[in-house]
Amino acid sequence: MTWRANVLTLFPEMFPGPLGASLIGKALEKKLWFLDVRDIREHGIGKHRTVDDTPAGGGPGMVIRADVACAAIDRAREANPDVPTAYLSPRGAPLTQARVRALASGPGAILLCGRFEGLDQRAIDARQLEEVSIGDFVLAGGEIAAMALIEACVRLIPGVLGDETSPADESFSTGLLEYPQYTRPQSFEGTEIPPALLGGNHAEIAKWRREQAENLTKSRRPDLWTLYEKGKA
Ligand code: SAH
Repeated sequence: MTWRANVLTLFPEMFPGPLGASLIGKALEKKLWFLDVRDIREHGIGKHRTVDDTPAGGGPGMVIRADVACAAIDRAREANPDVPTAYLSPRGAPLTQARVRALASGPGAILLCGRFEGLDQRAIDARQLEEVSIGDFVLAGGEIAAMALIEACVRLIPGVLGDETSPADESFSTGLLEYPQYTRPQSFEGTEIPPALLGGNHAEIAKWRREQAENLTKSRRPDLWTLYEKGKA
């Protein structure tokens, strides 16, 4: 079954956007994955198709109505039963490569993009939405977050990347950040490619890369390093 992203948004014109470019876009053309984008406003209330209202209790901005959001989710679920549904949200669990791998190996995802001050809590609770964050910062809307999630998943679908083996030892797959990469020219502004990479000795190359990955992870991401050490024990 082909992996399908079902996006619920107030700005459908933002899609496919960057998802239409490069290998991800070619894979979309080749139908290695599907993108189904729905306008939440189709479920808006009244003549003006209202989707939001002022926050209960006061304060700035607008909140997306629970009835409108749930109608959009229910429609998407009818067409895609048993597909995980996520609400992109800065309060969500930070997205990890492990979650991306799990989502990529499933049927796809229904992704609800928030805007304004966010979504009425009752929609999150009533439809048991998985809240997913792409980092500890606040975007203006969930669309770019949904695109990031989709791109991370789609590149793992077999046949999408040119080189099938390339996701295997990149950052996070091994629990480590990736080692530094080099290519021609051999000398750039007086700096040479590390000699360990040039001898053609595969064991030596693997050892050098592992050391570099470990040192980078230790210095940049002590949180990941601790998990990695635990996993080895
Ligand atoms: N008032 C909210 C932020 C609303 S930002 C709060 O403080 O939590 C508007 C929308 O952008 C959100 O509904 C969400 O869908 C999206 N968004 C913002 N930051 C995000 C992030 N880091 N990850 C995922 N989605 C995000």
